[in-house]
Amino acid sequence: MIQNNSYDADTLHEECGVFGMYDFDGADVASTIYYGLFALQHRGQESCGIAVSDTSGPKGKVLSYKGMGLVNEVFAPENLEQMKGDIGVGHVRYSTAGSSTRENAQPLVLNYVKGTLALAHNGNLINAPQLRKELEYTGAIFQTTIDSEVIAYYIARERLNSQSAEEAVRRACQRLKGAYALVVTSPRKLIGARDPYGFKPLCIGKRDNSYIITSETCALDTIGATFVRDVLPGEVVTISPEKGIESDMTMALPKEKEARCIFEYIYFARPDSHIDGVSVYASRIKAGKFLAQDSPVEADLVTGVPESGNAAALGYSLASGIPYGTAFVKNSYVGRTFIKPKQSSRESSVQVKLNVLREAVAGKRVIMIDDSIVRGTTSDRIVRMLRDAGATEVHVRISSPPFLWPCYFGTDIPAREQLIAYNRTIEEICQIIGADSLGYLGIDRLKEMAEGLPICTGCFTGKYPMEPPKQDIRGEYYDKEIDLERKMSR
Ligand code: SF4
Repeated sequence: MIQNNSYDADTLHEECGVFGMYDFDGADVASTIYYGLFALQHRGQESCGIAVSDTSGPKGKVLSYKGMGLVNEVFAPENLEQMKGDIGVGHVRYSTAGSSTRENAQPLVLNYVKGTLALAHNGNLINAPQLRKELEYTGAIFQTTIDSEVIAYYIARERLNSQSAEEAVRRACQRLKGAYALVVTSPRKLIGARDPYGFKPLCIGKRDNSYIITSETCALDTIGATFVRDVLPGEVVTISPEKGIESDMTMALPKEKEARCIFEYIYFARPDSHIDGVSVYASRIKAGKFLAQDSPVEADLVTGVPESGNAAALGYSLASGIPYGTAFVKNSYVGRTFIKPKQSSRESSVQVKLNVLREAVAGKRVIMIDDSIVRGTTSDRIVRMLRDAGATEVHVRISSPPFLWPCYFGTDIPAREQLIAYNRTIEEICQIIGADSLGYLGIDRLKEMAEGLPICTGCFTGKYPMEPPKQDIRGEYYDKEIDLERKMSR
């Protein structure tokens, strides 16, 4: 979230997951939303929430429950049992350390003159500060510091002059600049909206007589729903029992202007998801194959840094013929409340979370594949661990190009000066992380990875699909442990 100083109390840089559901037969949806959020947990581990309402009940009644923590920490069976309603929306949220509060957890529930709406948002608006100011000058009082509330206010305001809730959503979206995948429940409709560039994924699923709108297809699989289709960039979809799925493409841009976040394929999304028809797993395998073609090296073993480096490592192995193997054991029980070792302590966060299989690497020349290097501190430690376990050579291959620029659309890349690739050559980076060689994926390979879909490459090239804001204050809030924690959660 990019903000001016008046809002810098909100330092959240989110990447979130959304899950909305409407059961036309009137069955309760809260427990299914819960399992949907479980499948989206990798998109956000700081807070989560569910809001439901009964479409045959009073229009203003929305039951919501949210809290800080993982889905299984926040919800108990009794919470879900009390949440009666056949339409609802859920959200998982990620934010940087020290910046998360319960008030900022989603979904947001807003009462307005035509009823109550609940909203869950994934993405980052670059004009949120201006929009917020504009609303404040006209009397709005905000309860949270997240830009999702700005969207909710605009929808409520537009609803006064619109024929329908979906028209209000579309009119509100036309004021937004940046990345958003939204799920909104109005008293009788489930509405989804994706920004015209399509930065964030959003898809539609169906199970029996209920419809789902969610961030990733893995959530559909988890609840036994079938994939219907992706919400298109610039599309507003409305789902109701009377009309099924209705589409409004008023905001759509020419196809070549779309700009999906390539990082969804490289790292964010779960490998068993498909985004806009492209398998995330297959795109990672492809990235590994490209690395093998473009940065070959002789070695005895290819391995991935778990979890997100594994598919690319397999791709490298398939293209090079070098055997693929597991070299790391991850401790899956390191949760959100993990107490980080002090700098002076002999334990390191990396070693607590990850150990090397000595038998797998001793005496071998190892190619280690990772999805990215941000600051380099984690890579440096992992390379050292491989050497300590007896690897004779460690060659690092990265399945993305070097990060050189900030992201304004919801990814918490730190300020340029904190990026290891800033002002350094690849040889210099290689030396810092202590590897024998280092290779990155070429920028020209990214589009091939996404099977030719138009993509955003801003954080690698500095060329953004839209004019970025002048001010960037995100770096100072970035937690260097985050790279590792997020890697470990995948
Ligand atoms: S700048 Fe990078 S991380 Fe941000 S949306 Fe574009 S590709 Fe994704």
